[in-house]
Amino acid sequence: MTAGPFYTPDSPRRSSLVEPGSKAERLVLVGLVISPRCKPVANALLDFWHCDEAGDYDNRGFRYRGHVLADAQGRYSLETIVPGEYPGRTRHIHVKVRPPGGRILTTQLYFPDEPGNRSDGIYRRELTMQVAPKRGQRDAKFDFVVAG
Ligand code: FE
Repeated sequence: MTAGPFYTPDSPRRSSLVEPGSKAERLVLVGLVISPRCKPVANALLDFWHCDEAGDYDNRGFRYRGHVLADAQGRYSLETIVPGEYPGRTRHIHVKVRPPGGRILTTQLYFPDEPGNRSDGIYRRELTMQVAPKRGQRDAKFDFVVAG
């Protein structure tokens, strides 16, 4: 998928993108990075970026930008907020997944049951996270398959 115009390289390594004092709804995203043969891709780098709850990207600093590394079992996790929407796009999270020594996968993740999914021409159903709604927080899951 397209990275869009708002990618910033060299994001900080951190497992939480939540800003101090933020009242936005929390999103906890977990999953696996695995090879086509379902082997864990340890140390894959997952670089996330998304807009804030008002639909704005931070194009000067690193608000709602950060990367994590998959562990030896290929597991990753990220704590952040549910991003807002901006004109023309349904709700989404951008990510680049880089297996050690491998090619970068640039893609986007989507939320289920979003009205905007039907009108966004970039949206793809297979990139929809599994999301369990919970009071004050949404737990999401998505597994990436990349050449290890
Ligand atoms: Fe975007």
